Amino acid sequence: MEFGLTEEQVELRSAAQDIVSAFDDEYWAQKDLAKEFPTEFYDHLASHGWLGITTPEQYGGGGMGITEATLLLEAIAAGGGAMNAASSVHMTIFGMHPVIVHGSDELKQENLPRVASGDLHVCFGVTEPDAGLDTTRITTTATRRGTDYVVRGRKVWISKALESERILLLTRTTPRSEVEKPTDGLTLFFTDLDRSRVDIRPIRKIGRNAVSSNELVIDDLVVPEAHRVGEEGKGFSYILDGLNPERMLIAAEALGIGRAALAKATAYAKDRVVFDRAIGMNQGIQFPLADSLAKLDAAELALRHATWTYDQGLPSGRTANTAKYLCAEAGYEAADRAVQTHGGMGYSEEYHVGRYLREVRLMRIAPVSQEMVLNYLGTKALGLPRSY
Ligand SMILES: Cc1cc2nc3c(=O)[nH]c(=O)nc-3n(C[C@H](O)[C@H](O)[C@H](O)COP(=O)(O)OP(=O)(O)OC[C@H]3O[C@@H](n4cnc5c(N)ncnc54)[C@H](O)[C@@H]3O)c2cc1C
Repeated sequence: MEFGLTEEQVELRSAAQDIVSAFDDEYWAQKDLAKEFPTEFYDHLASHGWLGITTPEQYGGGGMGITEATLLLEAIAAGGGAMNAASSVHMTIFGMHPVIVHGSDELKQENLPRVASGDLHVCFGVTEPDAGLDTTRITTTATRRGTDYVVRGRKVWISKALESERILLLTRTTPRSEVEKPTDGLTLFFTDLDRSRVDIRPIRKIGRNAVSSNELVIDDLVVPEAHRVGEEGKGFSYILDGLNPERMLIAAEALGIGRAALAKATAYAKDRVVFDRAIGMNQGIQFPLADSLAKLDAAELALRHATWTYDQGLPSGRTANTAKYLCAEAGYEAADRAVQTHGGMGYSEEYHVGRYLREVRLMRIAPVSQEMVLNYLGTKALGLPRSY
């Protein structure tokens, strides 16, 4: 059994840590407060060729796998930027997967080199207000009109829509009542986010404020047939293809935040003296931090196993879900404990652990909730009856 990273992967992680270190906690705190997209950070990564590392080489990328992508995203989150940093590039790094696998040559030629260079900002539009996690209930429709489709509907929580030129958009082309399986009749497009047809409104939220999350009202958006990804009616399966690597990326981001939080808590526990002793001498402080170290290490192993299965072409539903679940729990717990270790200062903005906590909390909800991960493991891995 081989758990180690290759020499190239170790180098990649170290180079990623270096590049990310140009942006400190103060930069991220300021961006979060100002609700401002981290353009300098995004451009810095783009100019050093990081954004296309997983894009196939023929489209100007590095052709690397999910293992390398998770190492990069973990380093990005651990650098103090947490989800503000990770979400600014997340979709670019691995989100184009359905287009890479199922898109036409023309669609790929037109878009992938621009995505890889960072020139094209993209977002992902699945969630709808009345469907929630039950994606087959989406009601955004795409209706044929000659060689075009006309799209109408509403999306919610679409990250980075405000900054994006194009959207990977899931729609219904055949009503749910007319298809054999509810997952049939959904169609995926990669198309322009035409502001004259799409109203984009940012949602006020409790964290990750440098990257917008938006409500979209789509009113007769005309989408050329050439912007369809793969076949009509098969969009759900294309999205499913990308879900496992997405869960691994999310796991890596939670892990990175957990590591950053633990490092801050450890440093503070060594320095802060109360009752004539460093607070880290108290087992009430030391044990939770040691426990978090063990849990983060275990979660990291689950993640490495998951990315390995994916890169080997092995089934990765169970490993991806397990990694996402464990990393999200371990990352959240480490951030919560970092706040506790800082006492009152944990509640101030000055020490950044409060920001980490707000941001890592997200990974227990999105892109898939912990409950739905357990539903998956309960039904698919244990064979228990479905509750949904
Ligand atoms: C900051 C942020 C960014 C996001 N970015 C994007 C994006 O870019 N693109 C996009 O498409 N979406 C995005 N989302 C949406 C995200 O994927 C959803 O919020 C998430 O999938 C949960 O769906 P929901 O909010 O509709 O919850 P609901 O479906 O309303 O569920 C609510 C709660 O009920 C639980 N629940 C529901 N059914 C069951 C069941 N059968 N068993 C057990 N528990 C159940 C859920 O686990 C959850 O805790 C984002 C969300 C946030 C908060």
